[in-house]
Amino acid sequence: MNIEQNKVVELSFKLSLDDFNGELIQEFDKEEPFKFIFGTGYLLEGFENKIKGLTTGDKFKFKLPVEEAYGEVDEEAVIDFPHSMFNIDKEYIYVGSVLPFKDDNGNEMEGTIVEITDSTVTVDFNHPLAGEDLYFEGEVLNIREATPEELQHGHVH
Ligand code: ZN
Repeated sequence: MNIEQNKVVELSFKLSLDDFNGELIQEFDKEEPFKFIFGTGYLLEGFENKIKGLTTGDKFKFKLPVEEAYGEVDEEAVIDFPHSMFNIDKEYIYVGSVLPFKDDNGNEMEGTIVEITDSTVTVDFNHPLAGEDLYFEGEVLNIREATPEELQHGHVH
């Protein structure tokens, strides 16, 4: 069986920055593999393109350039808000805090507080991995058909 639309895929892999042996961001080993339904929009399209068609036991090693990963850092996505905008407990207001926001269209997005002054709170809406090339190395551990229920729910059971 090969990796394609609506297959449940189990992978072990590590994600590093700068190089295949660079800063380790994420790691899934064989005991606790990463499981997902292929082609449901859950993962980066660039990542799925690279592993499409692989079969159990295949190893993979590739670099996803920034434009196929989370894109360049957008300076306009770093925004100053007045403190009064934050109608939440003060204990959540600190540099590094990741908070849920809604944009003008009601879409949920996460922002990270990067600076706090007496008058403003600066929030960065860039993805934490924006501006980075991503280095993946791993192995396909298992592939099976998704059940109708899994497809309906959009996640692996
Ligand atoms: Zn479910």
